[in-house]
Amino acid sequence: MLKRQNVTILGATGTIGLHTLDVVARHPERFRAYALTAHSSIDALFELCKKFEPVYAVMLDADAAEALRLKLLKAGSATEVLCGMTALEKVASHPEVDAVMAAIVGAAGLKPAMAAAQAGKRILLANKETLVMSGSLFMQAVEQGGASLLPIDSEHNAIFQVMPSPKFSSLADGGVKRILLTASGGPFRKASEAELQAVTLQQALNHPNWVMGPKITIDSATLMNKGLEVIEAHWLFNATPEQIDVVVHPQSVIHSMVEYVDGSVLAQLGNPDMRTPIAYALGYPDRLESGVSALDLFKIARLDFEAPDVTRFPCLRLAFEALKCGGTAPAVLNAANEIGVDAFLKQKITFMDIPRMIESVLANANIESADTLEQVVFADVAARAAAVEWMQSN
Ligand code: NAD
Ligand code: MG
Repeated sequence: MLKRQNVTILGATGTIGLHTLDVVARHPERFRAYALTAHSSIDALFELCKKFEPVYAVMLDADAAEALRLKLLKAGSATEVLCGMTALEKVASHPEVDAVMAAIVGAAGLKPAMAAAQAGKRILLANKETLVMSGSLFMQAVEQGGASLLPIDSEHNAIFQVMPSPKFSSLADGGVKRILLTASGGPFRKASEAELQAVTLQQALNHPNWVMGPKITIDSATLMNKGLEVIEAHWLFNATPEQIDVVVHPQSVIHSMVEYVDGSVLAQLGNPDMRTPIAYALGYPDRLESGVSALDLFKIARLDFEAPDVTRFPCLRLAFEALKCGGTAPAVLNAANEIGVDAFLKQKITFMDIPRMIESVLANANIESADTLEQVVFADVAARAAAVEWMQSN
Protein backbone atom coordinates (compact mmCIF):
# COMPACT_ATOMS: atom_id res chain seq x y z
CA MET A 1 0.00 0.00 0.00
CA LEU A 2 1.15 3.55 -0.76
CA LYS A 3 2.22 5.70 2.17
CA ARG A 4 0.04 8.79 2.46
CA GLN A 5 2.06 11.85 1.40
CA ASN A 6 2.18 14.91 3.64
CA VAL A 7 1.90 17.98 1.44
CA THR A 8 2.76 21.58 2.34
CA ILE A 9 0.96 24.10 0.18
CA LEU A 10 2.71 27.47 0.10
CA GLY A 11 0.22 30.06 -1.12
CA ALA A 12 -2.79 27.84 -0.35
CA THR A 13 -5.35 30.63 -0.75
CA GLY A 14 -4.19 31.55 -4.26
CA THR A 15 -5.38 30.19 -7.60
CA ILE A 16 -2.78 27.41 -7.75
CA GLY A 17 -3.13 26.67 -4.03
CA LEU A 18 -6.89 26.18 -4.32
CA HIS A 19 -6.55 24.03 -7.43
CA THR A 20 -4.00 21.90 -5.58
CA LEU A 21 -6.38 21.43 -2.65
CA ASP A 22 -9.11 20.46 -5.11
CA VAL A 23 -6.91 17.62 -6.42
CA VAL A 24 -5.72 16.67 -2.91
CA ALA A 25 -9.36 16.41 -1.75
CA ARG A 26 -10.07 13.93 -4.57
CA HIS A 27 -7.41 11.55 -3.23
CA PRO A 28 -7.60 11.54 0.58
CA GLU A 29 -6.00 8.09 0.68
CA ARG A 30 -2.88 9.42 -1.06
CA PHE A 31 -2.43 12.98 0.24
CA ARG A 32 -2.81 14.92 3.40
CA ALA A 33 -2.62 18.74 3.53
CA TYR A 34 0.05 18.98 6.25
CA ALA A 35 0.65 22.75 6.22
CA LEU A 36 -1.23 25.56 4.50
CA THR A 37 0.13 29.09 4.13
CA ALA A 38 -1.09 32.52 3.02
CA HIS A 39 0.04 36.12 3.11
CA SER A 40 -2.73 37.69 5.20
CA SER A 41 -6.18 36.47 4.06
CA ILE A 42 -7.51 35.32 7.43
CA ASP A 43 -10.99 34.17 6.43
CA ALA A 44 -9.81 32.25 3.38
CA LEU A 45 -7.15 30.35 5.34
CA PHE A 46 -9.59 29.78 8.23
CA GLU A 47 -12.07 28.06 5.89
CA LEU A 48 -9.31 25.89 4.41
CA CYS A 49 -8.11 24.92 7.90
CA LYS A 50 -11.63 23.87 8.88
CA LYS A 51 -11.92 21.72 5.77
CA PHE A 52 -8.42 20.17 5.63
CA GLU A 53 -7.35 20.22 9.31
CA PRO A 54 -3.64 20.77 8.60
CA VAL A 55 -1.05 20.39 11.35
CA TYR A 56 0.22 23.92 10.63
CA ALA A 57 -1.25 27.11 9.19
CA VAL A 58 1.23 29.87 8.42
CA MET A 59 0.59 33.55 7.77
CA LEU A 60 3.34 35.87 6.64
CA ASP A 61 1.69 38.71 8.51
CA ALA A 62 1.92 38.54 12.33
CA ASP A 63 -1.38 40.32 13.08
CA ALA A 64 -3.23 38.14 10.61
CA ALA A 65 -1.65 35.05 12.20
CA GLU A 66 -2.86 36.11 15.66
CA ALA A 67 -6.39 36.74 14.37
CA LEU A 68 -6.40 33.32 12.66
CA ARG A 69 -5.12 31.63 15.83
CA LEU A 70 -7.97 33.09 17.90
CA LYS A 71 -10.56 32.16 15.29
CA LEU A 72 -9.30 28.56 15.06
CA LEU A 73 -9.11 28.25 18.86
CA LYS A 74 -12.73 29.36 19.13
CA ALA A 75 -13.71 26.82 16.49
CA GLY A 76 -11.98 24.03 18.47
CA SER A 77 -9.34 23.43 15.78
CA ALA A 78 -6.06 21.63 16.60
CA THR A 79 -4.15 23.43 13.83
CA GLU A 80 -1.10 25.30 15.11
CA VAL A 81 -0.67 28.80 13.68
CA LEU A 82 2.80 30.16 12.92
CA CYS A 83 3.92 33.40 11.30
CA GLY A 84 6.70 34.97 9.26
CA MET A 85 9.25 33.90 6.67
CA THR A 86 11.06 31.53 9.05
CA ALA A 87 7.81 29.65 9.60
CA LEU A 88 7.29 29.36 5.82
CA GLU A 89 10.78 27.88 5.56
CA LYS A 90 10.01 25.55 8.48
CA VAL A 91 6.88 24.03 6.93
CA ALA A 92 8.64 23.76 3.56
CA SER A 93 11.46 21.69 5.08
CA HIS A 94 9.71 19.91 7.98
CA PRO A 95 10.92 16.29 8.38
CA GLU A 96 7.34 15.00 8.20
CA VAL A 97 6.66 16.70 4.87
CA ASP A 98 7.03 14.71 1.63
CA ALA A 99 5.98 17.22 -1.02
CA VAL A 100 5.87 21.00 -1.21
CA MET A 101 3.68 22.95 -3.61
CA ALA A 102 5.57 26.23 -4.13
CA ALA A 103 2.71 28.53 -5.16
CA ILE A 104 3.54 31.85 -3.53
CA VAL A 105 3.57 34.62 -6.12
CA GLY A 106 6.76 36.58 -6.84
CA ALA A 107 10.17 36.85 -5.22
CA ALA A 108 8.58 36.17 -1.81
CA GLY A 109 8.46 32.49 -2.80
CA LEU A 110 12.22 32.13 -3.18
CA LYS A 111 13.34 31.39 0.39
CA PRO A 112 10.72 28.74 1.24
CA ALA A 113 11.28 27.03 -2.14
CA MET A 114 15.00 27.03 -1.44
CA ALA A 115 14.39 25.52 2.02
CA ALA A 116 12.35 22.71 0.42
CA ALA A 117 15.17 22.07 -2.06
CA GLN A 118 17.85 21.93 0.62
CA ALA A 119 15.70 19.56 2.68
CA GLY A 120 15.37 17.15 -0.26
CA LYS A 121 11.63 17.44 -0.74
CA ARG A 122 9.59 16.66 -3.81
CA ILE A 123 9.00 20.21 -5.04
CA LEU A 124 6.02 21.04 -7.22
CA LEU A 125 7.20 24.37 -8.59
CA ALA A 126 4.60 26.93 -9.65
CA ASN A 127 6.61 29.93 -8.42
CA LYS A 128 8.57 30.53 -11.63
CA GLU A 129 10.12 33.69 -10.15
CA THR A 130 12.38 31.45 -8.00
CA LEU A 131 14.03 30.02 -11.13
CA VAL A 132 14.14 33.38 -12.89
CA MET A 133 15.91 35.05 -9.99
CA SER A 134 18.28 32.33 -8.94
CA GLY A 135 18.05 29.43 -11.38
CA SER A 136 21.64 28.30 -10.98
CA LEU A 137 21.54 28.39 -7.17
CA PHE A 138 18.14 26.75 -6.99
CA MET A 139 19.06 23.89 -9.35
CA GLN A 140 22.24 23.37 -7.31
CA ALA A 141 20.20 23.26 -4.08
CA VAL A 142 17.84 20.70 -5.66
CA GLU A 143 20.78 18.52 -6.65
CA GLN A 144 22.70 18.85 -3.39
CA GLY A 145 19.61 18.39 -1.23
CA GLY A 146 18.53 15.32 -3.20
CA ALA A 147 15.18 16.97 -3.96
CA SER A 148 13.05 16.19 -6.98
CA LEU A 149 11.61 18.99 -9.05
CA LEU A 150 8.34 18.79 -10.94
CA PRO A 151 7.22 21.80 -12.96
CA ILE A 152 3.66 23.03 -12.46
CA ASP A 153 3.63 25.77 -15.08
CA SER A 154 1.44 24.15 -17.75
CA GLU A 155 4.04 24.64 -20.51
CA HIS A 156 6.92 23.18 -18.52
CA ASN A 157 4.77 20.38 -17.23
CA ALA A 158 3.86 19.60 -20.86
CA ILE A 159 7.55 19.65 -21.88
CA PHE A 160 8.43 17.42 -18.92
CA GLN A 161 5.74 14.97 -20.08
CA VAL A 162 7.09 14.72 -23.64
CA MET A 163 10.81 14.76 -22.89
CA PRO A 164 12.61 11.43 -23.43
CA SER A 165 13.50 10.99 -19.75
CA PRO A 166 13.44 13.29 -16.77
CA LYS A 167 17.21 12.91 -16.34
CA PHE A 168 19.75 13.67 -19.07
CA SER A 169 22.70 15.99 -19.18
CA SER A 170 21.81 17.94 -22.31
CA LEU A 171 18.97 18.22 -24.79
CA ALA A 172 21.22 16.79 -27.51
CA ASP A 173 21.82 13.62 -25.45
CA GLY A 174 18.09 13.04 -25.47
CA GLY A 175 17.83 13.68 -29.23
CA VAL A 176 16.00 16.93 -28.64
CA LYS A 177 16.50 19.79 -31.09
CA ARG A 178 14.38 22.51 -29.52
CA ILE A 179 11.56 23.37 -27.20
CA LEU A 180 8.42 24.99 -28.59
CA LEU A 181 6.93 27.00 -25.76
CA THR A 182 3.33 27.86 -26.52
CA ALA A 183 1.72 31.18 -25.55
CA SER A 184 -1.93 32.19 -25.77
CA GLY A 185 -0.87 35.67 -26.84
CA GLY A 186 -3.03 37.16 -24.08
CA PRO A 187 -5.95 39.56 -24.44
CA PHE A 188 -4.02 41.97 -26.71
CA ARG A 189 -2.74 39.51 -29.30
CA LYS A 190 -4.35 41.50 -32.10
CA ALA A 191 -4.05 44.98 -30.57
CA SER A 192 -2.25 47.73 -32.51
CA GLU A 193 0.61 49.70 -30.93
CA ALA A 194 -1.77 52.64 -30.44
CA GLU A 195 -4.34 50.40 -28.73
CA LEU A 196 -1.64 48.99 -26.45
CA GLN A 197 -0.79 52.52 -25.27
CA ALA A 198 -4.40 52.95 -24.10
CA VAL A 199 -4.95 49.58 -22.40
CA THR A 200 -7.03 49.78 -19.21
CA LEU A 201 -6.57 47.69 -16.07
CA GLN A 202 -9.93 46.00 -16.63
CA GLN A 203 -8.96 44.95 -20.16
CA ALA A 204 -5.59 43.62 -18.99
CA LEU A 205 -7.18 41.56 -16.21
CA ASN A 206 -9.45 39.80 -18.69
CA HIS A 207 -7.40 36.81 -19.87
CA PRO A 208 -9.06 34.84 -22.70
CA ASN A 209 -8.26 31.28 -21.54
CA TRP A 210 -6.98 31.07 -17.96
CA VAL A 211 -8.24 32.22 -14.55
CA MET A 212 -5.15 33.20 -12.54
CA GLY A 213 -3.90 35.52 -9.81
CA PRO A 214 -3.62 39.24 -10.73
CA LYS A 215 0.18 39.35 -11.13
CA ILE A 216 0.46 36.48 -13.62
CA THR A 217 -2.64 37.75 -15.45
CA ILE A 218 -0.89 41.07 -16.15
CA ASP A 219 2.32 39.20 -17.00
CA SER A 220 0.32 37.20 -19.55
CA ALA A 221 -1.03 40.39 -21.11
CA THR A 222 2.46 41.96 -21.51
CA LEU A 223 3.97 38.57 -22.55
CA MET A 224 6.42 38.92 -19.66
CA ASN A 225 4.92 35.68 -18.40
CA LYS A 226 6.25 33.97 -21.53
CA GLY A 227 9.58 35.69 -21.04
CA LEU A 228 9.81 34.43 -17.46
CA GLU A 229 8.86 30.98 -18.78
CA VAL A 230 11.68 31.05 -21.34
CA ILE A 231 14.12 31.60 -18.46
CA GLU A 232 12.34 28.92 -16.44
CA ALA A 233 12.69 26.44 -19.34
CA HIS A 234 16.38 27.28 -19.65
CA TRP A 235 17.03 26.15 -16.08
CA LEU A 236 14.61 23.23 -15.91
CA PHE A 237 15.67 21.58 -19.16
CA ASN A 238 19.22 22.84 -19.55
CA ALA A 239 18.24 24.57 -22.81
CA THR A 240 20.12 27.46 -24.42
CA PRO A 241 18.10 30.56 -25.43
CA GLU A 242 18.52 29.47 -29.07
CA GLN A 243 16.90 26.11 -28.27
CA ILE A 244 13.69 27.76 -27.00
CA ASP A 245 11.14 29.13 -29.46
CA VAL A 246 7.90 30.81 -28.47
CA VAL A 247 4.85 29.86 -30.54
CA VAL A 248 1.64 31.84 -30.14
CA HIS A 249 -1.27 29.40 -30.03
CA PRO A 250 -4.46 31.26 -29.08
CA GLN A 251 -6.58 28.22 -28.14
CA SER A 252 -4.23 27.13 -25.28
CA VAL A 253 -4.94 23.47 -26.03
CA ILE A 254 -1.37 22.44 -26.87
CA HIS A 255 0.53 23.30 -23.71
CA SER A 256 3.98 23.05 -25.35
CA MET A 257 6.01 20.82 -27.65
CA VAL A 258 9.42 19.23 -28.01
CA GLU A 259 11.07 18.80 -31.40
CA TYR A 260 13.44 15.87 -31.87
CA VAL A 261 16.36 15.57 -34.29
CA ASP A 262 14.43 13.09 -36.43
CA GLY A 263 11.72 15.67 -37.17
CA SER A 264 9.20 14.32 -34.64
CA VAL A 265 7.36 16.95 -32.65
CA LEU A 266 5.69 15.69 -29.48
CA ALA A 267 2.99 17.76 -27.83
CA GLN A 268 0.85 17.54 -24.71
CA LEU A 269 -2.77 18.62 -25.13
CA GLY A 270 -5.58 19.25 -22.72
CA ASN A 271 -8.18 21.74 -21.60
CA PRO A 272 -6.64 24.84 -20.04
CA ASP A 273 -7.12 23.79 -16.41
CA MET A 274 -4.18 23.83 -13.98
CA ARG A 275 -5.48 20.73 -12.20
CA THR A 276 -3.95 18.61 -14.99
CA PRO A 277 -0.31 19.64 -14.37
CA ILE A 278 -0.95 19.69 -10.60
CA ALA A 279 -2.36 16.14 -10.60
CA TYR A 280 0.49 14.98 -12.84
CA ALA A 281 3.10 16.38 -10.46
CA LEU A 282 1.35 15.20 -7.31
CA GLY A 283 0.95 11.65 -8.58
CA TYR A 284 4.12 11.29 -10.69
CA PRO A 285 4.83 8.72 -12.06
CA ASP A 286 1.20 7.66 -11.54
CA ARG A 287 -1.68 9.36 -13.32
CA LEU A 288 -4.47 10.66 -11.11
CA GLU A 289 -8.02 11.72 -11.77
CA SER A 290 -7.96 15.55 -11.62
CA GLY A 291 -11.54 16.69 -12.18
CA VAL A 292 -10.59 18.21 -15.55
CA SER A 293 -13.19 17.65 -18.27
CA ALA A 294 -12.28 15.61 -21.36
CA LEU A 295 -10.84 17.47 -24.32
CA ASP A 296 -13.50 17.82 -27.02
CA LEU A 297 -11.51 18.10 -30.25
CA PHE A 298 -14.65 18.44 -32.38
CA LYS A 299 -15.72 21.45 -30.36
CA ILE A 300 -12.23 22.98 -30.58
CA ALA A 301 -12.17 22.15 -34.31
CA ARG A 302 -8.96 24.03 -35.11
CA LEU A 303 -5.58 24.90 -33.68
CA ASP A 304 -3.84 28.09 -34.82
CA PHE A 305 -0.22 29.17 -34.58
CA GLU A 306 1.61 32.44 -35.16
CA ALA A 307 4.98 34.01 -34.38
CA PRO A 308 5.24 36.31 -31.35
CA ASP A 309 5.68 40.04 -32.03
CA VAL A 310 8.44 41.40 -29.81
CA THR A 311 7.99 44.91 -31.17
CA ARG A 312 4.48 45.23 -29.77
CA PHE A 313 5.41 43.09 -26.73
CA PRO A 314 8.91 44.23 -25.68
CA CYS A 315 8.76 42.29 -22.40
CA LEU A 316 9.43 39.06 -24.28
CA ARG A 317 12.49 40.58 -25.96
CA LEU A 318 13.74 41.95 -22.62
CA ALA A 319 13.46 38.52 -21.01
CA PHE A 320 15.49 36.88 -23.80
CA GLU A 321 18.08 39.65 -23.45
CA ALA A 322 18.29 39.17 -19.67
CA LEU A 323 18.70 35.41 -20.12
CA LYS A 324 21.50 35.90 -22.66
CA CYS A 325 23.18 38.45 -20.40
CA GLY A 326 23.04 36.04 -17.44
CA GLY A 327 24.22 36.66 -13.88
CA THR A 328 21.84 38.88 -11.94
CA ALA A 329 20.15 40.28 -15.10
CA PRO A 330 17.09 37.96 -14.83
CA ALA A 331 16.72 38.89 -11.13
CA VAL A 332 16.79 42.58 -12.12
CA LEU A 333 14.20 41.93 -14.86
CA ASN A 334 11.97 40.09 -12.40
CA ALA A 335 12.22 42.70 -9.65
CA ALA A 336 11.54 45.63 -11.98
CA ASN A 337 8.60 43.72 -13.44
CA GLU A 338 7.11 43.01 -10.00
CA ILE A 339 7.26 46.72 -9.14
CA GLY A 340 5.85 47.66 -12.55
CA VAL A 341 2.95 45.19 -12.38
CA ASP A 342 2.11 46.26 -8.85
CA ALA A 343 2.08 49.93 -9.92
CA PHE A 344 -0.08 49.11 -12.95
CA LEU A 345 -2.51 47.17 -10.74
CA LYS A 346 -2.73 50.27 -8.54
CA GLN A 347 -3.21 52.37 -11.70
CA LYS A 348 -0.10 54.44 -11.05
CA ILE A 349 1.53 53.73 -14.44
CA THR A 350 0.28 52.76 -17.90
CA PHE A 351 0.45 49.30 -19.47
CA MET A 352 3.32 50.22 -21.81
CA ASP A 353 5.19 51.93 -18.96
CA ILE A 354 5.87 48.40 -17.65
CA PRO A 355 8.33 47.45 -20.46
CA ARG A 356 9.66 51.02 -20.72
CA MET A 357 10.56 51.01 -17.05
CA ILE A 358 12.05 47.49 -17.10
CA GLU A 359 14.21 48.36 -20.12
CA SER A 360 15.57 51.44 -18.36
CA VAL A 361 16.24 49.59 -15.08
CA LEU A 362 18.02 46.76 -16.94
CA ALA A 363 20.12 49.17 -19.02
CA ASN A 364 21.33 51.01 -15.91
CA ALA A 365 21.77 48.03 -13.59
CA ASN A 366 25.13 46.80 -12.46
CA ILE A 367 24.90 43.15 -13.57
CA GLU A 368 27.00 40.76 -11.52
CA SER A 369 27.42 37.02 -11.30
CA ALA A 370 24.64 35.28 -9.37
CA ASP A 371 26.79 32.87 -7.36
CA THR A 372 25.32 33.56 -3.95
CA LEU A 373 21.84 34.25 -2.64
CA GLU A 374 23.14 37.53 -1.20
CA GLN A 375 24.12 38.74 -4.70
CA VAL A 376 20.67 37.84 -6.01
CA VAL A 377 18.86 39.54 -3.14
CA PHE A 378 21.09 42.61 -3.49
CA ALA A 379 20.30 42.84 -7.22
CA ASP A 380 16.59 42.39 -6.46
CA VAL A 381 16.55 45.17 -3.86
CA ALA A 382 18.59 47.56 -6.04
CA ALA A 383 16.34 46.94 -9.06
CA ARG A 384 13.21 47.61 -6.99
CA ALA A 385 14.69 50.92 -5.84
CA ALA A 386 15.65 51.84 -9.42
CA ALA A 387 12.13 50.95 -10.61
CA VAL A 388 10.55 53.20 -7.99
CA GLU A 389 12.94 55.99 -8.94
CA TRP A 390 12.04 55.61 -12.63
CA MET A 391 8.35 55.91 -11.79
CA GLN A 392 8.95 59.05 -9.75
CA SER A 393 10.87 60.77 -12.53
CA ASN A 394 8.71 59.69 -15.51
P1 NAD B 1 -2.33 34.21 -6.44
O1 NAD B 1 -2.11 35.67 -6.36
O2 NAD B 1 -3.68 33.71 -6.82
O3 NAD B 1 -1.93 33.53 -5.04
C1 NAD B 1 -0.73 33.84 -4.38
C2 NAD B 1 -0.63 33.11 -3.04
O4 NAD B 1 0.61 33.49 -2.42
C3 NAD B 1 -1.73 33.46 -2.04
O5 NAD B 1 -2.02 32.35 -1.24
C4 NAD B 1 -1.10 34.57 -1.19
O6 NAD B 1 -1.65 34.64 0.12
C5 NAD B 1 0.35 34.12 -1.16
N1 NAD B 1 1.28 35.25 -1.06
C6 NAD B 1 1.26 36.40 -1.81
N2 NAD B 1 2.28 37.20 -1.45
C7 NAD B 1 2.95 36.57 -0.45
C8 NAD B 1 4.10 36.90 0.34
N3 NAD B 1 4.74 38.06 0.18
N4 NAD B 1 4.51 36.01 1.26
C9 NAD B 1 3.85 34.84 1.46
N5 NAD B 1 2.77 34.47 0.74
C10 NAD B 1 2.32 35.32 -0.21
O7 NAD B 1 -1.23 33.65 -7.46
P2 NAD B 1 -1.33 32.37 -8.41
O8 NAD B 1 -1.98 32.73 -9.69
O9 NAD B 1 -1.83 31.18 -7.65
O10 NAD B 1 0.21 32.15 -8.76
C11 NAD B 1 1.13 31.61 -7.84
C12 NAD B 1 2.44 31.29 -8.55
O11 NAD B 1 2.18 30.26 -9.52
C13 NAD B 1 3.03 32.46 -9.33
O12 NAD B 1 4.42 32.40 -9.25
C14 NAD B 1 2.58 32.21 -10.76
O13 NAD B 1 3.46 32.75 -11.71
C15 NAD B 1 2.58 30.70 -10.81
N6 NAD B 1 1.68 30.14 -11.82
C16 NAD B 1 0.34 30.35 -11.73
C17 NAD B 1 -0.52 29.84 -12.69
C18 NAD B 1 -2.01 30.04 -12.60
O14 NAD B 1 -2.75 29.48 -13.41
N7 NAD B 1 -2.53 30.79 -11.63
C19 NAD B 1 0.00 29.11 -13.76
C20 NAD B 1 1.38 28.90 -13.82
C21 NAD B 1 2.21 29.41 -12.84
MG1 MG C 1 2.46 29.03 -17.96
